[in-house]
Amino acid sequence: MLIDYDTFRERNAVLQQRIATACQRVGRDPGGVTLLPVTKTHPAAAADYAARAGFQAVGENRVQEAVDKRAQTKANLRWELIGHLQSNKARLAAAHFDRIQSVDSEKLLHALNRAAAELGKILPVLLQINAGQDPAKFGAEPMAAPRLLELALTQPHLQVDGLMTIAPLSDDPAVAVRTFANLRSIRDSLVARFRTPLRELSMGMSGDLEAAIAEGSTQVRIGAALYGPR
Ligand SMILES: *Cc1c(COP(=O)(O)O)cnc(C)c1O
Repeated sequence: MLIDYDTFRERNAVLQQRIATACQRVGRDPGGVTLLPVTKTHPAAAADYAARAGFQAVGENRVQEAVDKRAQTKANLRWELIGHLQSNKARLAAAHFDRIQSVDSEKLLHALNRAAAELGKILPVLLQINAGQDPAKFGAEPMAAPRLLELALTQPHLQVDGLMTIAPLSDDPAVAVRTFANLRSIRDSLVARFRTPLRELSMGMSGDLEAAIAEGSTQVRIGAALYGPR
């Protein structure tokens, strides 16, 4: 069951306040952090809520689910893939998403570039890095990040906007802090080495957005705190 729109608006207001407070604490401009509503498992109306409240994009973690929902709404939104993508679905994903945040292998890079070329488009992507070294999470190993970026920068139909990570599930808040700090430091060293901006740092979810913002997140991906538990 989807919450009603007033509840969505109230939760959004609470989140905007959390983001503002987290920014204030570390002297950041709240304008430098966007909230990406994560509509996975919720009906297409969840995306309509987001558009109605002024959001420009939503996040989904499964390709087919997003394709189906996108066909059910007229909302003017960008759709971002935040879940694991297999190379054999690269074509479908490249056709239906406006940005793919979960690029974590050379094989997938090549498949997406080929698909984007066939579609005649430039596909924005983020490289997903397993910055928490969590065996349960997807994402390229930090040591593989330079090679992956080097390759991504030579793909004419991909545009690398930045990096994404998911913190390991843990009762210890220090784990998320360490993960986010690690992603930022990986970003800083890649920027220095490859002289490319990597502006987007997509990190932080409902439970750990404050830690992510303190470590430089430019986008927090929020599901439960907006739409309720899944
Ligand atoms: C589901 C999901 C989110 C949102 O998580 P919440 O805890 O519901 O805010 C963020 N990022 C990814 C990759 C997800 O799969």
